[in-house]
Amino acid sequence: LPEDFQTALPILKMIEDAGFEAYFVGGSVRDHILGLPIHDVDIATSAYPEEIKNIFKRTIDTGIKHGTVTVLMNDNSYEITTFRTESGYQDFRRPDKVTFVRSLTDDLKRRDFTINALAVDHNGNVVDKFDGLADLKNHLIKAVGVAEERFHEDALRMMRAVRFQAQLDFTIEGKTEQAIADNAHLLSKIAVERVHEEFVKMFYGQAWKTGFADFLRLGLSEYCPDFQGQTAKLKKLAQAKNIVMNDETMVWTAVGFSLGLSGEELNQFLRDWKVSNKIREDCQSTEKMLRDFQHKEIDVWQIYLLGVKNVSRVESLCELFDITIDNKKINEKVAKIPIKDSHALKITGKDIIDILKIKPGPKIGEYMTSLEKAVVTQTVTNSYQDLASYLLIL
Ligand code: ATP
Ligand code: MG
Repeated sequence: LPEDFQTALPILKMIEDAGFEAYFVGGSVRDHILGLPIHDVDIATSAYPEEIKNIFKRTIDTGIKHGTVTVLMNDNSYEITTFRTESGYQDFRRPDKVTFVRSLTDDLKRRDFTINALAVDHNGNVVDKFDGLADLKNHLIKAVGVAEERFHEDALRMMRAVRFQAQLDFTIEGKTEQAIADNAHLLSKIAVERVHEEFVKMFYGQAWKTGFADFLRLGLSEYCPDFQGQTAKLKKLAQAKNIVMNDETMVWTAVGFSLGLSGEELNQFLRDWKVSNKIREDCQSTEKMLRDFQHKEIDVWQIYLLGVKNVSRVESLCELFDITIDNKKINEKVAKIPIKDSHALKITGKDIIDILKIKPGPKIGEYMTSLEKAVVTQTVTNSYQDLASYLLIL
């Protein structure tokens, strides 16, 4: 067993000593078998949530209605979920009823894909009820049971299929793929936030281009915010250079830029996808800088505002879209920016008040920004004398 499982073994033991079953399940099992790093170790058990809470001293009711209790042990936390079945899915998204059961097989049956329906016991034995091991070996994403039914139960699973495809560089099995093509419209029943999460994770995957191409080909994009009728534009992104996408701003800027959006249109697009305020702001300035670079303009003030560290993100996006830029010239300009932030200015708000003989207020901040910009763009040198003189002619 890998170290992450070893560390969690005492948890399995304690549950078993109390007379219940417990297994490692889900993504950690899949990733362990693939030899990938494990992030969270999830545990499934025949014990009911109240029974788990009686076994462990420190617990959190994470999702007790759905059977999930978090157990804190040493410096780690583990989500322990009671075996359950789900039924009802009237609305194509969430079960009307969750029933706790005592059978591992029933629990594995409700999981989305065979590669995610594996369990490992305390001896390291793999429980493989749906040929997940063979599918892992053959690099296949295959629904557990009848794909069509599984996507009717929860349409988000179709997004998860392309997300895992991108993440693992796997292929979606034939029937599963057909069922996605036939049921893509059900994606419109799913909350944007959930689609958003899988969409971004898809781009973080090593094979994001394949996942994204299938997201388009299978028609999922048609049921996402602002993507209707945009397949041709989006396809260009699927055919772009293969760069590593490793942050959300990069993903959303790339998608927005492929659609040719900027300014308020870009903002609205990001709002429709429920992108956070912070990331929306970052996308705005990243997109602006990307366009500047495309037109061979280098706005040092813009670079300074976005942060020098973020220039590398724009450089990656330029590579993605095959925009040729003069990296050397950009780096030279960046290196010449005289200050890191406004604290480095050789003049203070108090100085400004004294020099201009004005009262404290928001005006002071505006003057500071003007001086900061003047220094950054090398209009004025960063000395008290020069800044004071410049202030008088502002
Ligand atoms: P990762 O954490 O690496 O993104 P994961 O497989 O752990 O991947 P999670 O979303 O954390 O994915 O879900 C944990 C497990 O719960 C999955 O492996 C799967 O067995 C099950 N699962 C999650 N979401 C669904 C769903 N919508 N339908 C059915 N089973 C699901
Ligand atoms: Mg997980």
